[in-house]
Amino acid sequence: MQGVGFRPTVYQLAQKHALTGWVLNSAHGVEIEVSGSPAACAAFVQDLQRNPPPLAHIDSFEVQPSAPQVYSAFEIRESQDKAGDFLPVSPDLAICPDCRRELFDPGDRRYRYPFINCTNCGPRLTIVQSIPYDRPNTSMAGFALCPDCAAEYHDPANRRFHAQPIACPVCGPQVWFEAGGQKLAEREEALQTARGWLVEGKILAVKGLGGFHLVCDATNAAAVQTLRERKHRTGKPFALMAFDLPTIEKYVILSPAARQLISAPQAPIILAEMTAAGKKLAQIVAPDQTRLGFMLPYTPLHLLLLEPAPGYPEVLVMTSGNLSEEPIAYDNAEARERLASLADGFLMHDRPIYMRIDDSVVTMLREKPYLVRRARGFAPQQLRLPWEAMPLLATGTELKNSFCLTRERYAFVSHYIGDLENQETLSAFEQAIPHYEHVFRIQPKALACDLHPDYLATRYAQARSQAESLPLVAVQHHHAHIASCIAENGWASHEPVIGLAYDGTGYGTDGTIWGGEILIACYKDFTRRFHLAPVPLPGGDLAVRKPARMALSYLLAAGVDIEDQTLAPVTYLTPDEIQAVRHQAHTGFNALLTSSMGRLFDAVAALIGLCEEISYEAQAAMALESASDPQESGFYEMLLKNDIIDPLPMIRAIVAELNDGVSAGCIAARFHNSLVRMSVEACLQIRQETELRTVAISGGVWQNMRLMNLILPALEAEGFTPLIHTQLPPNDGCVSLGQAAVALARLQG
Ligand code: ZN
Ligand code: ZN
Ligand code: FE
Repeated sequence: MQGVGFRPTVYQLAQKHALTGWVLNSAHGVEIEVSGSPAACAAFVQDLQRNPPPLAHIDSFEVQPSAPQVYSAFEIRESQDKAGDFLPVSPDLAICPDCRRELFDPGDRRYRYPFINCTNCGPRLTIVQSIPYDRPNTSMAGFALCPDCAAEYHDPANRRFHAQPIACPVCGPQVWFEAGGQKLAEREEALQTARGWLVEGKILAVKGLGGFHLVCDATNAAAVQTLRERKHRTGKPFALMAFDLPTIEKYVILSPAARQLISAPQAPIILAEMTAAGKKLAQIVAPDQTRLGFMLPYTPLHLLLLEPAPGYPEVLVMTSGNLSEEPIAYDNAEARERLASLADGFLMHDRPIYMRIDDSVVTMLREKPYLVRRARGFAPQQLRLPWEAMPLLATGTELKNSFCLTRERYAFVSHYIGDLENQETLSAFEQAIPHYEHVFRIQPKALACDLHPDYLATRYAQARSQAESLPLVAVQHHHAHIASCIAENGWASHEPVIGLAYDGTGYGTDGTIWGGEILIACYKDFTRRFHLAPVPLPGGDLAVRKPARMALSYLLAAGVDIEDQTLAPVTYLTPDEIQAVRHQAHTGFNALLTSSMGRLFDAVAALIGLCEEISYEAQAAMALESASDPQESGFYEMLLKNDIIDPLPMIRAIVAELNDGVSAGCIAARFHNSLVRMSVEACLQIRQETELRTVAISGGVWQNMRLMNLILPALEAEGFTPLIHTQLPPNDGCVSLGQAAVALARLQG
C-alpha cells in the first residue's frame, strides 16, 4: 500500500545491514532486491519481518534468491506504474506522535502549523485524484515545495521522505476565519477567533480532513439546542471530541483495547459506556443513551482547536456538516452555501478535498473493533478475497450505502456513502463510483445490485448494465448479508453455512419485506429455512416512524383485545389512528407483510412504553437494549413451527406481564434472551438436518451489543463456530461486498 512509509523503513534496514540494491512499489506490492553476504541478507529479511512499518499490513511475504548483482548503494526507486496496474491507496491517517510533538514545540519550524504531517500520518484518500500516489496526483499539487520541505522530501533518511502532502507555513495550505462572507482573520489569529467564538456559545463550520464539521461547546446546553434546531436533528446523539485520553476518560469508560483503537491512526469515534460525568453531559448531547461517542483530535488543526486553556470547553460537539440525512459538505463554496443557515462562522482552509468522507464509528466487541460506520481511517483499505475475482461493481443498498469493486484477489468496499434518499447523497454516490474506479483502475465487466427494483442503487446498476451491455446479477438482501460475512472471514468453500440475518428491511424473493431470516446459504444460493411470521406493516413508512403502530399490528395478530387495555401504544395513538391501523391490518391496504426483526424490536419497545415514535433510525431498538436489566435471565417461548418463527405467544406473555406490573427492564431483558434461545434452537435443528456447524451473523439488529454478547457464548457452548463481521459493519454497509461475492460465484462458478 502506498503512503504508509514502507520504503523508508526498508531503506533504513538496508543501511543497518550494509546491503546494496533497491526497493520500489508495484502493483504486486513492495519489491526489494538486496545484495550482500548471505548472512546479512538473512538478517535483513528477519528484521523486516519482525519490525515492519507500524502502518503496513503484510498479506504475504516471499523471499527468492537471485543472480548476484553489483550495486553501488541502496536506493529507493520511483513507483513503477504500468498501465492497468493498481497501487492500493492508504486510508487517511491520524496525526502521529512525532508530528504532534513538533506541533507544540516552539523551536520547530512547523510550530502550531495546522497541516503538519509525515510519511506516517496525514491525509491520503481524501486528497488523491489519481494514482500513483505522488504529489502531482493529489490536492497538494498546487502547493510548490519550499527549499526546506523539498530537502526533507528528497532525503531518504528524513521521516518526511516522499511524504506527498508535506507542507510548512512557508509553502503549504493556510487557515482563515470568515463570517457573513467576510474574512475576519488568518492563520494563528483565525484559530484564536474560532476558539473565542466557541467560548461564546457560537456554532462553527470547521473544514477538516474529509469535509466540514459543525462544532460547538458540548457543555453549553443552549448552543447544543440551537445546533439541533438548525440541523433539524431532534434526538439523535452527537459525536464528541476532546484533547486527550485523560479528558475523554472523565466521561466514558475505555477498555485497554478501546484506548488503543481511539489513539490509532484510524482514530474512529468510539461508542463507550458513560461515567457519572458522562451521564450529565449526555443529557445535553445524547439524551436517552447509555453510550457516548468520543474521538480524539486526528489532525493538527483539530489539536489546535481543542488545546486546553482556562475557561475553554474541554469537549466539543463534532457533527457532520450537513442538514440531517444529507452528505457532508466538503468544498469551500458548497459549504458557504449549504451551511450558511447552520453555522455562525467558518474556519476554512485552502487544501482541497477530493473525496468527502465521514468519521468512522466503532464499538468494541470482545476487545476487538466492531464497526457501526466504516469511513475515514478504514476505507479504502482493500479486503482480501478467498478467490480471484473478475472486475465487478456491486452497488449496495438504499440505506447506509456502500458500493464494492473487485479485481484480482481484492474487494474495495467504499466508505459509508449514506442513505440514497435525496439528490445530494445520490450525487455523492454517482461521483464516488467513477472516482474509485479511476483510482483503483477497475473497469467493471459485470454488475451486482439488490433485488429491490426501486432502490436508486439498483436503478443505477440497471442503467449501467444497459448502457455498457454488462451482465447484472440481482441479489437478495439477506443472502448478501450472509455472503458478506463469510467472504470477509475468508470462507473459501462452496459449503453452506447457517446464516442469522436479522435486520429492519430487505426485499424478499416473494415481494414482501424480510428481516427475521435464518438461512442456509452458500455464495451461490440460499434457502430460507426459518423466518419470523409475517405481520402487516400498517401504513408502510409510517409504521417504521411510529413503533406504536407496529405494536398494535402485533397485538391484533396475537388476538389481544385492545379495547380494554391501557397499553402504552393504545393510549398513545388517537382513536382515528387505531381505526386506520385496524383497517390496514385487516384489509392489507397500505400494509405490506413483513417478517422484519427490526420491526419486532420496535413493537416490543412500544408495547412496554419505551418508545412510541422515533426521530432517528433504530431509536426504539436502542431504547430496548439500554432498558434491559443485565441480571435478568428469564425468557419467553418463541416457537419454531415448520419454517415459521412464531412470536405471538411471546407478545401475549408480555401483555400479561405488563398487566401484572412486571418492569420494563425485566421484559426487555427477557425479550433479548428469548431471541437468543430461539436462534440457538433453530441452529441446533438445522445441524440435525444438515450437520452444519458454522453460523454467520449479519444484519443491523446485530449492532445490539447485548444480543451479541449473549449469542456468541450461547452458540459456542453448543459447539457452533460463529462468524461475525470484523472489517465491515453488520448493518447494510456490508451488503455490497455480499452482492459482489454472490454475483462472482454465479458468474465465475
Ligand atoms: Zn507524522
Ligand atoms: Zn515548506
Ligand atoms: Fe440489511
